[in-house]
Amino acid sequence: MMDTEAQRKYYTYTYAYPDGTVFYVGKGCNDRIDAHEREARKGCKCKKCRVIRKIWDSGEQVRKAKIYETDSESDAFRHEKECIKVTFKSPHLTNKANHDWLYYMSLSAKKTAQLKMSMREGVDKDR
Ligand SMILES: [Zn+2]
Repeated sequence: MMDTEAQRKYYTYTYAYPDGTVFYVGKGCNDRIDAHEREARKGCKCKKCRVIRKIWDSGEQVRKAKIYETDSESDAFRHEKECIKVTFKSPHLTNKANHDWLYYMSLSAKKTAQLKMSMREGVDKDR
């Protein structure tokens, strides 16, 4: 569960459409969460940046949220992978999600539900 008492070094974050549909999952530290918007502003042609600009063009803002914070980089990495695992079948996800580990990784139904909820809540708290 997320610890809200102190600022942790690493985090997992999501980018979502104004309606809350997640289209990118990442992990990082410091201001990494803003890096994709900077990339999009510079005109990057990747799928994720095109989605970001499309949202801006419609007069809306991208909904960014930190959904998990930790002092352990490997924990953040694991959490990011788990989030990708539960969303990689979504047609909206712009992460490059064609990795073998996605098929080998198994998550319990409980864990899957928990992750989906944290992604939804992460987005909602940013509203
Ligand atoms: Zn890009």
